[in-house]
Amino acid sequence: MANMSHEIRTPMNGILGFTGLLKEPSLSGEKQQNFIRIIEKSGDRLLNIINDIVSISKIESGTMEVSNEETNINEQNELIYNVFKPEVENKGMKLSFKNTLAAKASIIKTDQDKLFSILTNLVKNAIKYSTEGSIEFGYNLTNQEHTPSLQFFVKDTGIGIPKDRQKAIFERFIQADIEDKMARQGAGLGLSISKAYVEKLGGKIWVESENGIGSTFYFTVPYNIEPKKSIIPENTILSDINEPNIGKLRILIAEDDEISEELLTISINSLVKELFIARTGIEAVAICRNNPDIDLILMDIQMPGLNGYEATRKIREFNKEVIIIAQTAFGLTGDREKAIEAGCNEYLSKPIIKNELISLVQQYFKK
Ligand code: ADP
Repeated sequence: MANMSHEIRTPMNGILGFTGLLKEPSLSGEKQQNFIRIIEKSGDRLLNIINDIVSISKIESGTMEVSNEETNINEQNELIYNVFKPEVENKGMKLSFKNTLAAKASIIKTDQDKLFSILTNLVKNAIKYSTEGSIEFGYNLTNQEHTPSLQFFVKDTGIGIPKDRQKAIFERFIQADIEDKMARQGAGLGLSISKAYVEKLGGKIWVESENGIGSTFYFTVPYNIEPKKSIIPENTILSDINEPNIGKLRILIAEDDEISEELLTISINSLVKELFIARTGIEAVAICRNNPDIDLILMDIQMPGLNGYEATRKIREFNKEVIIIAQTAFGLTGDREKAIEAGCNEYLSKPIIKNELISLVQQYFKK
């Protein structure tokens, strides 16, 4: 609890503290930008811990769902490499990855999001717990106990983990450094979530490490092949958002929270021909009925009275054409399916990132 409270309060302190400082009227532009960067970083950190808490609660309550879809391992590794390369190079270190299977053979059936989350978590840790040298990750096809599996590895030249702590670190809230001498920010949840995920996918996770020399984390997933078409992880290809190649749209924002609505309004400003705002599901349905030429609805899910799913169902009774993008703050597996089932075309989880939203809208309204 102490750890978690600290992990929540520290970024909150950054957000509220620096927002207060931003109010100072005589602040230079450079200082403002600097404060905004700190607020953004703190927000990211807060979101990470919240995501971890949600994941651990799902694991604990036994309600974690596992999907099984085509996953392109090689593309996934390349994506992770591109995401983390700048951060590693900024630390003066080198990041590399190894894809050992040919493109076609690298498509397996597994839970894509969970696999992605395990690997990114290990790479993030490798970066966090290293100050120099290199980080390498990749996989090899193995045939342990007569079942083919992919053995992933993430190898770093960081601080290492003492032998007597190598088991404990996979438990929740546990960090290797009990005395807190070398502790970095974190609540000690990442590895326990990764372990639960790996086991759900049918694999094992372990570490080989030498104090002061470095660590290699390994995990396996069954090599279930389904040699069909390749799948690119969601939201990887963001089209050029600076020049939205689409006409202006009639947009309805259904959102009960004023701040979230303001954020959406500003984010989509460049696309708007006419803007409608609804604060409840009932209002959203009514506005939609009275304005059949609305092109796009950004539909919040948690609204009082009629929620976003119900409102979408009602709208679909008389309008099948309008594009509805759901947005929820739950961030849980299954949300997407629920939204699509209710009649939404797409789904985004909050916090809404402007580029992702615009790129998604572009896909529907490209001329
Ligand atoms: P957190 O990083 O938030 O503390 P984790 O569950 O991801 O939580 O990791 C638990 C502990 O394992 C960390 O606190 C750290 O002591 C140790 N650890 C994890 N990855 C590494 C690594 N690559 N090198 C050294 N120590 C590590």
